[in-house]
Amino acid sequence: MMSSRIGGKSKRSGELLAKKLQSEGISNTAVLQAIAQSPRHIFVPEILAHKAYDNTALPIGQGQTISQPYIVAKMSELLLAAGRPKSILEIGTGSGYQTSILAQLTDKVFSVERIKALQWQAKQCLRAMDLHNVAMKHGDGWQGWQSKGPFEAIIVTAAPASVPPALLSQLADGGRLIIPVGEQSQILKIITRDGDTFNEEQVEAVRFVPLVPGDLL
Ligand code: SAH
Repeated sequence: MMSSRIGGKSKRSGELLAKKLQSEGISNTAVLQAIAQSPRHIFVPEILAHKAYDNTALPIGQGQTISQPYIVAKMSELLLAAGRPKSILEIGTGSGYQTSILAQLTDKVFSVERIKALQWQAKQCLRAMDLHNVAMKHGDGWQGWQSKGPFEAIIVTAAPASVPPALLSQLADGGRLIIPVGEQSQILKIITRDGDTFNEEQVEAVRFVPLVPGDLL
């Protein structure tokens, strides 16, 4: 995972991936452009680099996965559906790939990860991409990041059994939370806040690693 691995060849691969996602129904041009421009191969282990532009999830170590490009694009598009948020809270930095897409779509990204080693690698990748508008926290995503809130947009890339109350309370009025919820079977939800009312919409069935409560690694 080094800057020397960002090259011209990946540009063409990114563009092809964006075309594929467009053919699968992603229509937000800012999202497609971010996908086209991002070197996904630097976010995966070197031995899997040849699969980096396939539309699949891949293991990134520590029992975690880099999300499938389609779902990264889909969640980003849903997050932007009501307009461009000024800042975004992301729970589950993982490889940092989703973070890098978000960083191209907003002014500031706040990202929380419980596994220190993954957070460190993600930081290197974002630096290699020259993205400097991401603040990271080594912490428990169930608690959100209260001191930086409220947030117009929150995205969760690991699945809790139920929606963490802290994330609802850190959602700004009119804000949107995109979150997979469930254990064996999970459903992607959009939760929008209207004063003290939270409206929920179900998008599609998904499969994420669990949002683990408690202890940090
Ligand atoms: N968007 C990431 C997805 C990574 S997988 C990517 O595309 O690479 C989900 C991540 O959520 C993992 O890195 C996992 O360590 C993290 N995670 C799980 N439970 C968490 C918690 N309670 N707080 C913060 N991060 C958590």
